Amino acid sequence: MAAERDSDVRRLLILDDEAAVGTTIANIALSAGFEARALTDPEVFFHEMDAWEPSHIALDLVMPEVDGIEVLRRLGDSGCRASVIITSGVGSRVLEAARLSALEHGLAIAGVVSKPFTPAKFRTLLREGQGAVRPVPRSGRQSRNEVAITASMLETALARRELSLAYQPKILCASGAVAGFEALARWQHPEHGPIAPDRFVVAAEHLGLIDALTDHLFELALTWFTSALPEGETRLSFNISRRSLGDIGFADRLAGRCLAHGLRPQRVILEITETSALSDPTTSLDLLTRLRFKGFRLSIDDFGVGYSSIAQLARLPFSELKIDKSFVMSAATSAEARTIIRAMIGLAHGLELEVTAEGVEDEPALTMLREAGCDLAQGYHIARPMPDGAVPAWLGARPLIGTQAR
Ligand code: C2E
Ligand code: MG
Ligand code: MG
Repeated sequence: MAAERDSDVRRLLILDDEAAVGTTIANIALSAGFEARALTDPEVFFHEMDAWEPSHIALDLVMPEVDGIEVLRRLGDSGCRASVIITSGVGSRVLEAARLSALEHGLAIAGVVSKPFTPAKFRTLLREGQGAVRPVPRSGRQSRNEVAITASMLETALARRELSLAYQPKILCASGAVAGFEALARWQHPEHGPIAPDRFVVAAEHLGLIDALTDHLFELALTWFTSALPEGETRLSFNISRRSLGDIGFADRLAGRCLAHGLRPQRVILEITETSALSDPTTSLDLLTRLRFKGFRLSIDDFGVGYSSIAQLARLPFSELKIDKSFVMSAATSAEARTIIRAMIGLAHGLELEVTAEGVEDEPALTMLREAGCDLAQGYHIARPMPDGAVPAWLGARPLIGTQAR
């Protein structure tokens, strides 16, 4: 329904238990060219959500009858597409927690304002609401009409070469030189269209097809990388699944493939997500150490969203830590995210790991990372993942790592 709404319609629906505050906000919105309605009753609010289809919502977080977090949950469950402005008199840490919770519920958050706020501050948020932060889809979350992935679908995809890789560059924060590319799996299904990698990777794990998938994709990645960047210090980053960490022949297989392509494993970074790497530290330690002995570099991916202890991280033989994109994407708006990023950079450097920030979407984020001493950056601001054919044009005359002083 919201998708069909005229994008020029600007309607603000306000829920605040203090009628006077609601009226004040409504007046600010009217002066900014919005239609506005202020309500004090949550049930009437949900009725108006359906009937009036607002483009924006202003929500008081703390109300006597229903709390704002519960309202955010209901809005998320109903698939609300409006830009949400959270208002409250509670402290900024609580507001920040509410903002993150709203993002988790799939809502678009235009901003949070502490009461009392100035009309100018609120107007700015209303204007910026068009570009509200959209949540990152979480792994495993399925939209309503996603097709179930079966073993035969995946086997057919492998046999018919429906799977491909997109490549996303990583650059040095300090100089901008190209440090390498991460290979990201893509599946274009002939009937169902594109299927997201975190979905089909999990499906392959459950269906016992992860080894076939990994082997197929690693072969594609090596073929591309050794022809596109045969020499030098640039690196290929490749994601591996947690399931492969229990497979004793895994390290030999990957090393054998590198040998066949004439590629030194030192130029390959294997990325393992934080939760999977540390779920069974003993097996992980064995297998990760074997991979290191073969010469591969190891990266702990999506760091900061799992539950590993710092002691476990220190025990495992990683060479790189990748800060999860949720922190990096919040860096511009959240002082807490910036503090966490700086702490992670300090932790990584203390353990002699290189740090990559993923999810760098704008120049201020890149500047913040550079100033904080982050080594490498990856994200839409630098380049989106691209098909192999697009890489030469993107590279153009850009300097490569090792061809200039670091
Ligand atoms: P990942 O390894 O953490 O990869 C980064 C994800 O962030 C990619 O999503 C990438 O497209 C996306 N991304 C990069 N820059 C930005 C940015 O600036 N903003 C935002 N919002 N997103 C950005 P993608 O390609 O959908 O991959 C999702 C996950 O699927 C990967 O997360 C990885 O865990 C898994 N995956 C992808 N390819 C493979 C594979 O070949 N094997 C395995 N085992 N897992 C894979
Ligand atoms: Mg990765
Ligand atoms: Mg990641």
